[in-house]
Amino acid sequence: MKNMTVIPTTSSHIKHKTDLLALTLPELQQWFVERGEPAFRAKQVFGWLYQRLSTDFAEMTNLPQTLRAQLAGEACIGPMVVRSELHSKDDRTRKILLELADGKLIESVLMLYPPSSESGPRATVCVSTQAGCAFGCTFCATGQMGFDRHLSAGEIVAQVLYFARELRSAPWTAAGLPGSKPIDHVTNIVLMGMGEPLHNYDNVLRALRILNSPQGFNLGARHMTVSTVGLVPAIRKLIREPLQVNLAISLHAPTDELRGQTMPINRKYPLGELLAACKEYIAATRRQVTFEYVLLAGVNDTPQHAHQLGELLAPLQQLAHVNCIPVNATSADYRPPGPEAIRAFRDILFEHGVSNSVRAERGDDIAAACGQLRTRFEKNNRNPIGMQGL
Ligand code: SAH
Ligand code: SF4
Repeated sequence: MKNMTVIPTTSSHIKHKTDLLALTLPELQQWFVERGEPAFRAKQVFGWLYQRLSTDFAEMTNLPQTLRAQLAGEACIGPMVVRSELHSKDDRTRKILLELADGKLIESVLMLYPPSSESGPRATVCVSTQAGCAFGCTFCATGQMGFDRHLSAGEIVAQVLYFARELRSAPWTAAGLPGSKPIDHVTNIVLMGMGEPLHNYDNVLRALRILNSPQGFNLGARHMTVSTVGLVPAIRKLIREPLQVNLAISLHAPTDELRGQTMPINRKYPLGELLAACKEYIAATRRQVTFEYVLLAGVNDTPQHAHQLGELLAPLQQLAHVNCIPVNATSADYRPPGPEAIRAFRDILFEHGVSNSVRAERGDDIAAACGQLRTRFEKNNRNPIGMQGL
């Protein structure tokens, strides 16, 4: 288990360099052409970056030596420093704290799932899209920090590549499942780390297109999930994108009154408008929408709330799925309900014909809820967080 890895680069000398992870293949072709190089160099470099997962231009041995030196002078590959890496006791959750070139801190999480009857083993990266967040949901550690800035496409892509390299060099097998096939690559990404992906629309879509590129990382759109607080115009825009990713809506309350109390965005885009946009997404894609519902004991988890939620979503029939998430305690005064209250809540949803599941708690021992690790790190005066208790 490691605690700290440093990717060799410093913030001062990368400022003027082009981060290649921020470029789509056509943009990289253009970049080479502008430098008098043939466009095919871009495909070669894409192969190194996304298939070989290279971090060093010196390794790119099918490029002329002079070009490798030029690249080292003019370009960089996702410059960021890993300040802390924590693995949960069962090693199914790994969390990194990344320091960006300007000193901002973000978190990314790798979640590993053993094979099940429905699917092979999965390795899902939970990606941050902003440093901080502007939307101030009351139960969210990131929301309580306020907004720092949008992440570039390269900073979003780099988080996925970090874990892809880690899995490539040390494939993971679930403990206690001898004989199951080790997993050596990222199978899914979810934009559920810090920040609101649809507030950073252009960079997020660019990052998803880069990761989707068949000449590069080649991750299918069906393996990507965008989670949103409910920015209605941006959801409508997403519906029209050629890249058809999965949509998750952070719902967290069944009435405008309650949602407005925990999620300020509801005052701008109330439930009626949000549900209308979800129906448009379903009509256009025929794909299921996941509704995330953070369960806050005594706040939104009563049988009455469950009935209201069931009535709200029943018209979407099998194209709505509720993911019940017992809240991860942050500094705010919320607690998760006990197992009986969760069971009762879910049973009422089933009575309304609404499919649902409960998210298994994971990574409690490593401050896995978004924003928690950074909060702890900053309270610790930015000293790396040790592995005590892990
Ligand atoms: N901004 C986006 C994506 C990032 S948050 C969004 O809100 O959807 C990802 C998910 O984590 C959201 O569903 C969010 O509501 C949930 N979340 C935030 N704080 C949480 C906490 N303390 N415990 C459990 N889930 C939390
Ligand atoms: Fe922002 Fe999402 Fe947290 Fe709300 S839940 S504050 S939108 S990151």
